[in-house]
Amino acid sequence: MAAGSLVIVFLGPPGAGKGTQAARLADDLDLVKISTGDILRSHVARGTELGRQVGPIMERGELVPDELIIAIIREELAGMPEVRAIFDGFPRTTPQAEALDALLAELGAPVDVAVLLEVPEDELVRRLLRRAELEGRADDNEETIKRRLQVYREQTQPLVDYYAARGVLKRVDGLGDPGRIYCRIREVV
Ligand code: AMP
Repeated sequence: MAAGSLVIVFLGPPGAGKGTQAARLADDLDLVKISTGDILRSHVARGTELGRQVGPIMERGELVPDELIIAIIREELAGMPEVRAIFDGFPRTTPQAEALDALLAELGAPVDVAVLLEVPEDELVRRLLRRAELEGRADDNEETIKRRLQVYREQTQPLVDYYAARGVLKRVDGLGDPGRIYCRIREVV
């Protein structure tokens, strides 16, 4: 039997643990995890036209243009009979959040919860530098990390107010053991 639509957005700066926590929650709640960062990295790795376009932007730690991101999301949502999804790393700008609301309105499935993972900036830098050693991501170097955190503050942080105003924002302490953090998330979702 269908479980009904459920839409969760993961907000938070780079290195907050969105990908890890979203993957676990998606598994447990039978949701599709839609990570724009993963989708873009796959295009870069495959050398697609889109990948060639966005690769240099990602290496600089800047945001990919909204219209490209919104097209990706529209394609991901197309054909879903009911929307059961977790968005990881999307939306990142107010126009993206508005576009998501419009797409979801067409599908009759508004954002149910926006989880904000809160982690202090010095800890974020530590985590991202560690990930650089483990995964070798092109954008996990010190200069780009600083730029990504700045981009987050300037362009993505306003979404905290956006979702708070809609009454769906849940703040979660993103410090500590990943299992404990997951428990905190389950208390609000
Ligand atoms: P992430 O894996 O979410 O940290 O994303 C890695 C990079 O992909 C970001 O620094 C951006 O260059 C790009 N990116 C991912 N998601 C978005 C988005 N929603 N809007 C714009 N750019 C994005």
